[in-house]
Order: sequence, then C-alpha cells, then structure tokens
Amino acid sequence: PVAEPAPAAKPGFLGRLVSRTVEPRRALDDEMLESLEDLLIAADMGVDTALRVTANMAEGRHGRMMSATDIKGLLAAEIARVMEPVARPLPIYPKKPQVVLVVGVNGSGKTTTIGKLASQFKAAGKTVVIAAGDTFRAAAVEQLQVWGQRAGVPVLTAPEGSDPAALAFDAMTRAEADGADLLMIDTAGRLQNRADLMEELAKIVRVIRKKDPDAPHNTILVLDATTGQNALSQVKTFQEMANVSGLVMTKLDGTAKGGVLVALADKFGLPIHAIGVGEQIDDLQPFDPEDFARAVVG
Ligand code: GDP
Repeated sequence: PVAEPAPAAKPGFLGRLVSRTVEPRRALDDEMLESLEDLLIAADMGVDTALRVTANMAEGRHGRMMSATDIKGLLAAEIARVMEPVARPLPIYPKKPQVVLVVGVNGSGKTTTIGKLASQFKAAGKTVVIAAGDTFRAAAVEQLQVWGQRAGVPVLTAPEGSDPAALAFDAMTRAEADGADLLMIDTAGRLQNRADLMEELAKIVRVIRKKDPDAPHNTILVLDATTGQNALSQVKTFQEMANVSGLVMTKLDGTAKGGVLVALADKFGLPIHAIGVGEQIDDLQPFDPEDFARAVVG
C-alpha cells in the first residue's frame, strides 16, 4: 500500500474538539460516548480501538456529569494505560554482535532512524556497524553513508544491484572481527513487489544465521506516524514477511494525530522502542506513554 499522509491536524485538536463537545458539562451518556468515538476515529485511532477506549472510559461512570477537563483526564489515562505495556526500549543482548534488522516502506524514515540509533549507541559507548542493505537504491546508500559519518559509525556498502544477503554476511564477518556490539542492517522497502522483498528479507535472515543462529536479535519496523491507519496494514504486511519484534514511530513531530499508535498498541502489542520527533540526529526519543497521552489529548 502506498502511504498517504493524513490531513494535517493542529496540536491539541482532539482536546479542542472534546471541549467543544462537552462544554460546560454534559452527562456521559450514549450520545456523548458516540461523539467521543467519532473524535477518536478522527484522531486515527480506528473504529475498534476507539470503541474500546470509550467503553473503558465510561465503565462505572455511565450517566455521570462531566466537564471537558474530566473527559480529557479520563481519555489521557485510558490512552496511557493502553500504551504502558508497549513502551519498551530496544532490548540489549549480552552477545556480540547484536544484529538488528531494520525494515519498513521507503520514506518511512529507516535511514534516518538507523543514523539516530547509531549515534545514541555510540554515545553510550557501544561500537556499531551499519550495513546499507538497500542495494538497489543508490540514493539510500548515499544517505546512509552521510548518517554514518554524522554518527561516526562505519557503513558497509555493496555495488548497486548486488545481493543484500551477501552484504549482510560480509557485515556479520566485519562486525565479528571488529568486536562490534551492534550491527544494524538496512533493508529495501519496495512493497510494489512484495514476493521479491519477502524473498530478499528471508535470504538475509538465512545467511546471517549461518554466522549466528539467533540472528537477527531484533527486527525493527519503522513506521511513519503521519500515514495514519495505513500504518496498521504495514504492520500486517511486514509481519508476513519478517519476524517483526518492535517498532519505531517516526514523524511524531509533524502530526497531532498520533492516535494510530494507540490502535497499533491495541491491535498488535508490539513494543515501541523509540519515536522520531524531527530530522536531526538527536531527534529520537524513548516512548513515554504519559507524555504521549497528554500530547494526543492536548
Ligand atoms: P527511508 O526511505 O525509510 O530510509 O526514509 P528516510 O530516512 O530517508 O526518511 C524520509 C524522510 O523523512 C526524510 O526527509 C527524513 O528527513 C524524514 N524523517 C525521518 N524521520 C523523521 C522524523 O522523526 N520527523 C520528521 N519531521 N521527519 C523525519
């Protein structure tokens, strides 16, 4: 599926809509719950999740008089509750090198995220190697090299159009020889030819397992938060192609409609390792459920 950016929403739009719907006070009745459901759907939460969130908010409170502040508080608490279990940083393995496969559609922010992660690990005293596994896109390889320079991390490349699995194998050899803590492998993101990409990812995994049967230790799916509900279908697609173990959500600086993260947590329960909040090297943050809930509700 081609990612279509959701219409821009201004920060705090959900909160303003709640205020408009509830001011000054209203009973938390069926009509009000229906209005809230519509607001949550407009915030990209999806129908199932919006229904569950409102039902949980209303439990034991049906018919009670509420102010907009009460509703926003309940909503934020419920969102934080859904998000709490998925807020988990990338687990660190004692074994070297820890192999992290990074997957996602083109444009989702894979290259940028790899650069940011490399920089963070480097700052934490880890040695990192990056493999530019999207060998079919020369521009992607160049971009990754730029990020590697910024982060001070070597980027292994292969000639354009060559086999990414061979590069991944060489990168394993290099990371082992260097005693690197972490090997991050970028991958192609052309969903236009799904079967091809699936075979390519499977081959990378097969080949690196010759070196370490437990590799990859993590398979991170990078998702662009501004694609809204499209992110859900991307998770399904990539789960069919690879053993996705966690998510990084990018471009949360550009959207007030982070509601899709709630839907993702509710439906898939995959850990969110980090969020991208800008294009600079330091713009990657741990995911904080309470900050997030406050930001979504506004
Ligand atoms: P890739 O094709 O998946 O490797 O995606 P890139 O890493 O090249 O990113 C695509 C575009 O999104 C670039 O213009 C990045 O600067 C931008 N980008 C990536 N992450 C973020 C983020 O967290 N916030 C913003 N605002 N832009 C981002």
